Amino acid sequence: MAILRFHAIKESLAYKPVHIEEKERRSELFGKNVFNENTMRQYLTKDAFNGVMNAINLGKKIDRSIADQVSSSMKDWALSKGVTHYTHWFQPLTGATAEKHDAFFETIGGGMAIEKFGGDQLVQQEPDASSFPNGGIRNTFEARGYTAWDPTSPAFIYETTLCIPTIFVAYTGEALDFKTPLLRALNAVDTAATAVCRYFDKNVKKVTSSLGWEQEYFLIDKMLAASRPDIMLTGRTLLGHPAAKGQQLDDHYFGSIPNRALNFMRDLETECMLLGIPVKTRHNEVAPNQFELAPIYEEANLAVDHNSLLMDIMGRVASRHHFKVLFHEKPFIGMNGSGKHNNWSLSTDTGVNLLGPGKTPMSNLQFLTFFINTIKAVYKYEALLRATVASASNDHRLGSSEAPPAIMSVFIGEQLTKVLDELEGVTKGKLSPAEKTELKLNVIGKIPDVLLDNTDRNRTSSFAFTGNKFEFRSVGSTANCGNPMTVLNTIVAKQLQDFKIEVDTLINKKDLKKDEAIFNVLREYIKETKAILFEGNGYGKPWEIEAKKRGLSNNKSTPEALKAKISKESIALFEDMNVMSKVETQARYEIEMEAYSKHIQIEGRVLGDIARNHIVPTAIKYQNILIENVRGLKEIFEEKYHDVSREQVLLIQDISSHIAGINSNVTKMVDERRKANTIEDIEKKALAYCKKVKPLFEDIRYHCDKLELLVDDEIWPLTKYRELLFTR
Ligand code: ADP
Ligand code: MG
Repeated sequence: MAILRFHAIKESLAYKPVHIEEKERRSELFGKNVFNENTMRQYLTKDAFNGVMNAINLGKKIDRSIADQVSSSMKDWALSKGVTHYTHWFQPLTGATAEKHDAFFETIGGGMAIEKFGGDQLVQQEPDASSFPNGGIRNTFEARGYTAWDPTSPAFIYETTLCIPTIFVAYTGEALDFKTPLLRALNAVDTAATAVCRYFDKNVKKVTSSLGWEQEYFLIDKMLAASRPDIMLTGRTLLGHPAAKGQQLDDHYFGSIPNRALNFMRDLETECMLLGIPVKTRHNEVAPNQFELAPIYEEANLAVDHNSLLMDIMGRVASRHHFKVLFHEKPFIGMNGSGKHNNWSLSTDTGVNLLGPGKTPMSNLQFLTFFINTIKAVYKYEALLRATVASASNDHRLGSSEAPPAIMSVFIGEQLTKVLDELEGVTKGKLSPAEKTELKLNVIGKIPDVLLDNTDRNRTSSFAFTGNKFEFRSVGSTANCGNPMTVLNTIVAKQLQDFKIEVDTLINKKDLKKDEAIFNVLREYIKETKAILFEGNGYGKPWEIEAKKRGLSNNKSTPEALKAKISKESIALFEDMNVMSKVETQARYEIEMEAYSKHIQIEGRVLGDIARNHIVPTAIKYQNILIENVRGLKEIFEEKYHDVSREQVLLIQDISSHIAGINSNVTKMVDERRKANTIEDIEKKALAYCKKVKPLFEDIRYHCDKLELLVDDEIWPLTKYRELLFTR
C-alpha cells in the first residue's frame, strides 16, 4: 500500500493536462445530439411531428403508426451520426442511471442484414428487472418490469448510442423509478395550479414546474483516489487527519480555477452543449478542489434527466482528465460538504412566473397566492420534505453547521415579511371599498418587481425565497432530484387544490367577491403558518430549541427522518394526488431504509479492514523500528540508555495504546454489526446501524488519525489529505 501511495503521488505530479480546444460556438453546438423540436421538424412527417408535440404539450397518447414513423426517423438521424446501438435510458431506485444497449443491426436471412428500429422498440422494452431495487413489489419469479418511452424528454445520442428516456414500471403497473412519480406529480401540480391561475387569467391552460439545480462536487486525482480504498468503495474518506491548511484562508471560493480542473470543465461543458444541457455557471466552491456547476433552469422533468445524465457524464469526462469526481456530501472531514440546491418555480403557458412579483396589483395577488400556498405546503409537510433529502451520506451535511440544518424552515426576507404582516390585518369577510383600494395601492401594489433583499445571504435556511423562485437547499449532491421534486410539486398541488376549495366555498356560500375570498383565505394561512418562517441563523442550539417550541421536526438521521414518508398523511397525500399508491410509497420507504443500513454496513467493513489490515500493521512496523532504535541505544549507552530513549519509549507506548484502541473498537463494531444484521425489522435494523454501529466509526477514526501524526510519513499507507486536496 505504501508503495501505491507514492506511486500515485508520482503519477499525479507527472500528469500533463489534456489540451482542450473549443472550435465551435456553444450556441452552435447546443442540442446537436438531441432529437429535439428542431431535428424533429427536419426528420418527421407533419403528422408524426404533431403527434409528438401533442404528447409533449398536451399529454396526448402517441398511436402506433406515429411511433413507427418516429422510430424510423430517429434511426435515420442516429445512423447519420454514426450511431450503432439504442437503449432505453432510465433512473431506477439505485440512484444511478441504467441502460441496456441493443444494436440496430438485424439479420434478414440469405446472409443479409439491415439496420432496424421499430415503433415497438421505441415504445417499450423489457430489461430483466429482477436486479433493481423494488422494495418487495415484485417477487423474483414474476420479475418482469418494462420501460416505456417518455416523449416529453427528447432522445439523445451519447457516443455511439441513441438513448431514449423512459419510465420504468413493474408489470403490475407500480413505479420502479424516479421518473414515473415525478411525471405524475408534475401533472398534479399542473392541474391544481392551472385551476388557481384561472382566478386571475382565464387564458392559462397549463402550468409548468421549473427546476434549476446547482451541482457541487470534488475533483480528486484519479490515481490518488485509487490509492484510497475508502474513496473507491464508499465515495468518502473514512479516516485521514485534516491537512495543516484546509479552507481556513477562504482562498478557494470563487478563486481562479486551476488549469487542470478548468480543462475538465471545458471538456464537460462541450459534452453538455451537444446533449442540450444548458450549463452556464462554473466556479470554485469553498473547500479546496471543490467546484460547482449550474445550468439555466428548465422544465422539471427535463432538468432532472439532465442532472442524472450530467452526473454520469461527469464521471467519464473526469476519467479523461485523470480525475475522479466525488459527489459524496461529505468526502472530507473538516471541509465543506457538497449539496445540490434545487431552485424551483411554477410558470404558465402565458409566460408568467407565478413566483415572481408582477407589475400590477392583480398579478401581485396571484404571486402572493402561489407564494403563500407554497409556504403553507412546506409547513404542513415539513417532515415529509425533510424525508425526501434523507440519505446516509446527506446525514453528514444536514445539521453540521455548514449546510441547512435538519429542520425545515422558510426564509422570505424583510420586504415580504412586511407584506405578510399587513395582509394578516385584512378584515374578516367582506372588505370595504376603501380597504380594497388601500390593499391594492399600498400593500400588494407596493411589492417591487425586483425584490432587493430577497437573497438569503446567511445561507442557513433550508427553503429560501430568492426573488423569483424558492431554493430548496437541503438536497444532497448525490441525490436524484426526482425525489425532492416529486414531493415538492405534490405538496404544492395538494395545497393549491385545498385553497381552491376554500376560496370557492367563500365565494359560493358567503357571497364574497373573488379577491375578497382570496384575501380571506390567505390571511388565515399567514396566521397558521408562522412557525415555519425563520429569518435568523439556522445553525446551532438556539434555533433547535426555538424550532422545537414551534413544533417543527428535527430528524437528524435518515432512519428517523424516513418515517415521515409512510405516515398516514403522506400515504393519503400521494394517493389523493395520484402520485403513488400505498404500495409504491411503502416500497420506496423500504428501499431507502435498506439502502441506509447497507451503506453503513459497507462503510463499517471498509473502515474495519483499513484500520486492522493497513493501519495497525503499519503502526507495528514503525513501533518495531523504534524498538530496534531503543535496543541500539541500550547497546551504546548501557545504563544511561533510559535518558536518551525516553521519547522513543513514550512513542512506543503511545502507539500501543492507539493500536489497542483500534482493535477494541473494531471488535465492538463487528459485534454491533452482527447484532444489527440479525434484526428483521428494517427500521429497527437501520436504527441499530445508526445508533450502535456508526458511532464507533468516530472512535476508530480517532485512533487511526492520531497514528497518522505519529508514524513515519515514509511508511504511511494511505494518501493523506494534503496530497488528495492540493494536487493541481
Ligand atoms: P445562486 O445565487 O444561488 O447561485 P443563481 O441566481 O445563480 O443562484 O441561480 C441558481 C439557479 O437557479 C440556476 O440554475 C438558475 O437557472 C436557477 N433559476 C433562476 N431562476 C429560476 C426560476 N424562476 N425557476 C427555477 N430556477 C431558476
Ligand atoms: Mg443557490
